[in-house]
Amino acid sequence: MKVINTIKELRQGLKKERQAGRTIGLVPTMGYFHEGHLELMRRAREECDVVVVSLYVNPTQFAPSEDFESYPRDFERDKKFAENVGADYLFCPSNAEIYLPNHLTYVEVEKITKRLCGASRPHHFQGVTTIVAKLFNIVMPDKAYFGQKDAQQVVVIKKMVDDLNFDLEIVVVPTVREEDDLAMSSRNTYLSDAERVEALVLSESLQHAKRLIDSGERIAQKIKDEMQELIESKPQVNLEYISICDNRTLEELSRVQGETLIALAAKVGKARLIDNIVIKM
Ligand code: AMP
Repeated sequence: MKVINTIKELRQGLKKERQAGRTIGLVPTMGYFHEGHLELMRRAREECDVVVVSLYVNPTQFAPSEDFESYPRDFERDKKFAENVGADYLFCPSNAEIYLPNHLTYVEVEKITKRLCGASRPHHFQGVTTIVAKLFNIVMPDKAYFGQKDAQQVVVIKKMVDDLNFDLEIVVVPTVREEDDLAMSSRNTYLSDAERVEALVLSESLQHAKRLIDSGERIAQKIKDEMQELIESKPQVNLEYISICDNRTLEELSRVQGETLIALAAKVGKARLIDNIVIKM
């Protein structure tokens, strides 16, 4: 596996791969790898000739009050993991490499970035789409791999790809969970033992919603109320939102219908956690 820090060097390497007729898969990450990240890499390894993993904690997707400085980082550990799953290139640029001092250009997907997580993180998705667009331009992958764990991110990136005619396929990989069903996240490392136990209510509330729907409930507000009651029974879990929305437009639904996304966000101690399920009717 080649570890590469500059755009120029990565482009030179990938140009040769492309000329040799090899397909390229990109896995964008912020590092501190867990099984979720590794699953994306394995999928890319299965489907593409060349696997590029980017490891970059992107400052423009964090608000000043958020955890950019304290975000967990461990380059040597990540390098071993990426190498073990068979990545070919690990691209870890510096901030100066990615953002020129006079950087003025951002990619903004409208409307759908203001809902769900966008309500409390108004600039977050602009940071995400800007870095992902830059990575697409740098790597020019045939396929790029994203986790369903970040459901809104998937919807926003697919919209950007359609609207800006990026010539690649977005592959969505199911959420990887711990044995007790907690969705894996680099931010789970912020949780104390007691907080981690209470955080289980998030996936439990989603499973409860699924059971309600399976038994015939369709009214979104009733489902949300029961989820909220469950979540509020855990004092260390501060619910930010529950959304029951169309999985393409992210518009809130009054009734569960078609492809429905049930998504939530909550603060548990220092960690802001998200989770979701998709129900297909
Ligand atoms: P991050 O490093 O948190 O920005 O995540 C990098 C990629 O891994 C994103 O596409 C995430 O959606 C994906 N990812 C993170 N956690 C999981 C998980 N538990 N299961 C599947 N994919 C995940």
